[in-house]
Amino acid sequence: MVGQDKSEWFRKIPAVDRLLSSPSILDAASQYPRNLLLKAIHHVLDQIREQIKTGDGLEDPSLLSLEHVSQKVLGTVERLNRPSLRQVINATGIVVHTNLGRSILAERVLERFRSIAGGYSNLEYDLDRGERGSRYIHVESILREISSAEAAIVVNNNAAAVLVALDTLAKGREVVVSRGQLVEIGGSFRIPEVMRKSGARMVEVGTTNKTHLRDYEAAIGPDTALFLKVHKSNYHVIGFTEDVDTVELVNMGRKYGIPVVEDLGSGCFVDFSKFGLIKEPTVQEVLAEGVDLVTFSGDKLLGGPQAGVILGKKHLVEAIRANQLTRALRIDKLTLLALEETLSMYRDEQVAIREIHTLNMILVSPESLKAKARRLARMIGKVEHRGFALTVAGGESKVGGGALPLLVLPTSLVCLTPGELSAHTLEEKLRGYDPPIIVRIEKDQVLLDVRTVQENELKIVAQAIRTLSQL
Ligand SMILES: *Cc1c(COP(=O)(O)O)cnc(C)c1O
Repeated sequence: MVGQDKSEWFRKIPAVDRLLSSPSILDAASQYPRNLLLKAIHHVLDQIREQIKTGDGLEDPSLLSLEHVSQKVLGTVERLNRPSLRQVINATGIVVHTNLGRSILAERVLERFRSIAGGYSNLEYDLDRGERGSRYIHVESILREISSAEAAIVVNNNAAAVLVALDTLAKGREVVVSRGQLVEIGGSFRIPEVMRKSGARMVEVGTTNKTHLRDYEAAIGPDTALFLKVHKSNYHVIGFTEDVDTVELVNMGRKYGIPVVEDLGSGCFVDFSKFGLIKEPTVQEVLAEGVDLVTFSGDKLLGGPQAGVILGKKHLVEAIRANQLTRALRIDKLTLLALEETLSMYRDEQVAIREIHTLNMILVSPESLKAKARRLARMIGKVEHRGFALTVAGGESKVGGGALPLLVLPTSLVCLTPGELSAHTLEEKLRGYDPPIIVRIEKDQVLLDVRTVQENELKIVAQAIRTLSQL
């Protein structure tokens, strides 16, 4: 538009009324609230005026045609109308991906949502006695059954579980913790800070790499409320290291009357070492070692909804139940139903492994991942675009979510060399797709790890790649 009269361009901008009565907008108008449509029109018109002013991105007068501007308005109103929280396809291979919602719920859980969420329920109503009941009983007995704990209670998430446990059992007193376990988890959960918030005083013992039983013993004083163990969820200390054995710590706690509390992080009921993976102590094993109270997340390796599970000695759990803070951190009914249904599957480990996606995505065999990657490659088919190449290759997936940090799982990847596009551009386009597809980039290649792509999503991914790689 160099050398042209800008006012000429401004005159060409379609008026709001013309846009509102343009065929394509009239056609779509009933789908959207009128206010939103108007908002989109003003948004697009503002953008065009800005482009004319700066001379940026408006080379052709046809871009001001009624039809073209209407299409832009439709694109904008569609975007404005879209919910903020959306489904995405996880092609990163990270099973418990905190940014992508951690665990996906089993079919059996989803089936129960309609009736419980869309109707009234006995959430806090005792159907036998016809009077007020407790919301916690819906998960307490199943938790006790599968863990053998004396008592159980659940709160909003594991951060809340740790906070309320410390607030109840150690406020104004001392908590002894090893320097090797002062964890920070993503989303700014840091042990020293949670400790401060709870009003407990942290007494650090040992060093980063080595803590001995005698270090704990030397820290005991009249104000010692408990020993806290924290799972090293997202890091590992290797080399010249030593940690105190749980049974030894429990025995010393008994001798001095000091309870041992363990933040297990993930909290897993299935022994992965049976399947050739890393040994991670299960919740049952930790409780059997005599730990007085454990806390863990509902949506990490357990594979359920966001929740914080607290299991252990009856008098400790009862004290937590009576704390006002527990009321403030209480779990919602949708979470409860999802947690109850997820936990019930652990009655039969084979059912749990088959039905709970987090477990089956971790335990799926490398052979079936290879077959899945090849299937995806076939569905994508031949992409007729210069320089575009597709291969299936071996790779590694991580569990993620601050769980099993040392575990790398062999997987199969569909690797895309995007030709004229850069890998970053293709990644961005996949992220902008509907539904968004989240991938990894490595060495100018876009990698799709099929471990976390669900069966019914393969078709969508294939279609997206066929479409986007031509652009
Ligand atoms: C993940 C984790 C937490 C926080 O759990 P949320 O359920 O995310 O609140 C706390 N402690 C440890 C050791 C963890 O791994």
